[in-house]
Amino acid sequence: MSASLLERSLAAVWHPCTQMKHHETLPLVPVTRGEGPWLVTEDGRRLLDGISSWWVNLFGHCEPRINAALRNQLEHLEHAMLAGFTHPPAVELAERLGALTGGALGHAFFASDGASATEIALKMSAHSWRNRGFPDKNRFLCLENSYHGETVGALAVTDVALFRDAYAPLLRQAGTVSTPDARRAAPGEPPSDVARRAADSLEARLAAEGSHIAAFIVEPLVQCAAGMAMYDPEYLRRARTICNRYDVHLICDEIAVGNGRTGTFFAHEQAGIRPDLLCLSKGISGGYLPLSIVLCRNDIYRSFYDDDMRRGFLHSHSYTGNPLACRAALATLDIFESDEVLAANHTRAALLGTLLAEAFAAHKAVRHLRQRGMIAAFDVAGATSDFPRRFFAAALEAGALLRPIGNTVYFMPPYVMNEPELRALVEAAARALDTVLA
Ligand SMILES: *Cc1c(COP(=O)(O)O)cnc(C)c1O
Repeated sequence: MSASLLERSLAAVWHPCTQMKHHETLPLVPVTRGEGPWLVTEDGRRLLDGISSWWVNLFGHCEPRINAALRNQLEHLEHAMLAGFTHPPAVELAERLGALTGGALGHAFFASDGASATEIALKMSAHSWRNRGFPDKNRFLCLENSYHGETVGALAVTDVALFRDAYAPLLRQAGTVSTPDARRAAPGEPPSDVARRAADSLEARLAAEGSHIAAFIVEPLVQCAAGMAMYDPEYLRRARTICNRYDVHLICDEIAVGNGRTGTFFAHEQAGIRPDLLCLSKGISGGYLPLSIVLCRNDIYRSFYDDDMRRGFLHSHSYTGNPLACRAALATLDIFESDEVLAANHTRAALLGTLLAEAFAAHKAVRHLRQRGMIAAFDVAGATSDFPRRFFAAALEAGALLRPIGNTVYFMPPYVMNEPELRALVEAAARALDTVLA
């Protein structure tokens, strides 16, 4: 039974972010059930989902209230096109997300995946400048080691060689500026100084090329796909000021770091700033359905408002504003309120930090143990190129889903793990590390 599902998957499914040949030695895991932070395999093994299934399942799996909200929505409206029509879930979600930005980002554009949100934000920025009489402002800047998705437009602002190099000839590559990654600090240098140095390089670039740059896109506080590179909020404060100075839009890609992941609902709040455009996806639907959203400032919206169709925002997507996906997002926002999730995560994150420090702070192979809210990570000295796969397999053996990026082991647990579960997760990671280093 189990073997046949694996065989059929390997024969018919092309798995993402995978060299399929590696599955000759690394078995696929057949999952048939989810319960809170647990994934249950076909043969009944229970695995702790330490990375919220690629950072999406904020409240674990099969959350009863999200399930109920979806069942209820199914009885009313499963889908209707959003061109020429509207419906309650899309309206309510746009209103509630706008309110969460204090009204600063008052218009919501819906899509389904994160990469599309990136593309929409880039198109919106450049088209907005064009509508305002600056057609030459059509280039973009991103950070070194940035990740904004893997469609051709999003890859152009993604600086991860593994994902980009094979497709480089297809791209109109954006410019990259220095990352404020706190690991770049000289001995004794505070992270805020690294942030200032990186901001100086952004300023120099905009001073030279600002008249051609539409937008600077950034992952606030944590460059997740780069290996959980964390940086000081001072960088965002400076980037905001610099973008204002050179008339360049600031796009915050909070696809991974939004939805309470870093301790505030939006990561950019920790810098006391607002972006001009904000991308959301991943956890926004609680990990239930594909949904992404671009929120924009009202003046950007107004720059498209005209009698001429060609000055309207031209991006068509069949499933835009899907009512089921929006309903899952509304149920997710309800849980943030009713369970006071941000406050509860404060305690949960502190516990995770303590457990990780006990297990790893003095470990001889561990470097740069770091944390921002419900993201924690460390780097492993001397890791070989097969480290991520070997660690992943060893962690499964120890009862947890953990999937390192390069030599970085990271934790992004769902916001429902209790103390015994967090303890079990950290113990599984410690056992996996010892197995791999043995
Ligand atoms: C995952 C991610 C994306 C892409 O989202 P997809 O839904 O996988 O296309 C974009 N930006 C960031 C910061 C991400 O973490």
